Amino acid sequence: MKEYRYIFIDLDDTLWDFHTNARISLELMFHDRRLDHYFKDFDEFFRIYAKRNIELWEAYGKGEITQDFLKAERFRYPLSKMGVNDEELAEEIGHQYLDILPTQKVLMPQALEILEYLSARYPLTLISNGFKETQHRKINSSGIADFFSHIVLSEEAGALKPDPKIFHYAMQLNNASADECIMIGDSYAADIQGAINAGIDQVYYPLDGLQKDNQPATYFIRNLSELKQWL
Ligand SMILES: [Mg+2]
Repeated sequence: MKEYRYIFIDLDDTLWDFHTNARISLELMFHDRRLDHYFKDFDEFFRIYAKRNIELWEAYGKGEITQDFLKAERFRYPLSKMGVNDEELAEEIGHQYLDILPTQKVLMPQALEILEYLSARYPLTLISNGFKETQHRKINSSGIADFFSHIVLSEEAGALKPDPKIFHYAMQLNNASADECIMIGDSYAADIQGAINAGIDQVYYPLDGLQKDNQPATYFIRNLSELKQWL
């Protein structure tokens, strides 16, 4: 069994429960802005929002739309479905949502326990594609900042996962070579493909818990505590 010396780990949906935190933030925003005037209840709003949001992220991933369009359209769409064509309201609630989101603190199951376990044994480096201020707010709100020796954000590294440059940047900070490192993440395209591109072993932790033939990885887990088998 290979001896790893440095652990790289993703933030959103690997440690910080993005899906749950997003839903909580949307619900807070929904009630604050009295959106119950337009929708039967939060669930009705959320269903319409979530479906459109997924479509928009797919289009964004293919380069068909801009991030600004995505941020506005995902709120414009559910409102217009209810006959409310209020561009300003859509924009305002979009901003409000993004303000509330990084203040949320729900972590993935066993995240805290595994961070305690791993940080006692290895230097941990967080590698995330998010915006600097937003990601720092999430890390601080959820109380996990102190577990990391280094925090590498795409904005500072000048490259986004899966670009191997962001992994090279993390290796340099640790004075590490690729074969001493292992990357843990939920996104095959960003975390796993990125680590492969940089010659680093990978642990794939998909949200749906499904291992697919066309998504090979060094290790596969359904639960963060499984990491203790090898680390
Ligand atoms: Mg992620």
